[in-house]
Amino acid sequence: MILAANFKMNHTRASTRAYLQRLNSIEKPAHIDLFVFPPFTALDSYESIATIGAQNAYCAESGSYTGEIGLAQLREFGIETLILGHSERRHIFGESQELIAQKFAFYKEQGFTIFYCIGETLEVKERGEDAIHIYLQKQLEGIDTSYDKLIIAYEPVWAIGTGKSATPEDIEKILAFLASHTDAPLLYGGSVKPANIAEILRIPRCAGALIGTASWDVESFIEMIQIAKEI
Ligand code: PEP
Repeated sequence: MILAANFKMNHTRASTRAYLQRLNSIEKPAHIDLFVFPPFTALDSYESIATIGAQNAYCAESGSYTGEIGLAQLREFGIETLILGHSERRHIFGESQELIAQKFAFYKEQGFTIFYCIGETLEVKERGEDAIHIYLQKQLEGIDTSYDKLIIAYEPVWAIGTGKSATPEDIEKILAFLASHTDAPLLYGGSVKPANIAEILRIPRCAGALIGTASWDVESFIEMIQIAKEI
C-alpha cells in the first residue's frame, strides 16, 4: 500500500524537517510505502521513513529555464521520485499533455518513480462515463503505461482540495477502467482524510492514496497511516 503526502506550496524547510522528525518517531508499517513531496525549497537529503519526492520538474539536466528545477537539482539530494501531471500543473499553470509526456519520457529514462496524476473536471464528469473515459485516455497519451516505476493517481479535479471526495462506487468504476489499460498501482486522490481513508483503501484495485490538505498536519497524516495499518 502507498500513502503519499503532497505538500503543494505549504511548509518551509524548517517545518518540513520538523514534520519528518515527527514522522520518524512512528514505526513504519511494513506493508505501507510512505512518500512525502515537499516544495522545492524544502528538498534535502533527509533521513526519513518516507521517500522524499519532488512535486514537479523540468525535462532537462540543467539550463536556461527560469523558475524551473531539473535533474541536477534533484540529484543533489538523491531525489528519484516525482509527481507529474498534477491537475494544478495542468489547469492553473497550463501544462499541456505534450509537455507532461516529454517530462515523463525524460524522467523515465532516468529511472525515476513517477506518480502520474490524471482526473476529469466537473464539466466532463457531468457529461457521463464515456466522456470521463475519453478524457482520462487523453491524459495517458504519450505515457508509457507499462513503465515499471509508474504509479497512477486518479484525482478528479472537482474533488481536489474541496473536501468533497468521489464516492467509493465511482472510484471503483474508474479504477477498473484504468486497470484495463495498465498494471501500474492505482491510487486515489481528492479530499482523502482520516474520516474517509478506510473506505477508500478498501476499494478494489485501490493501492493507496495521494493526499494533499489532510497530509499537511503531520498528526493527521500519522492518523491515516494508523488507519491504513489495519486494512
Ligand atoms: C492533491 O493535491 O493531490 C490532493 C489530492 O489534494 P487534496 O487531498 O487536498 O484534495
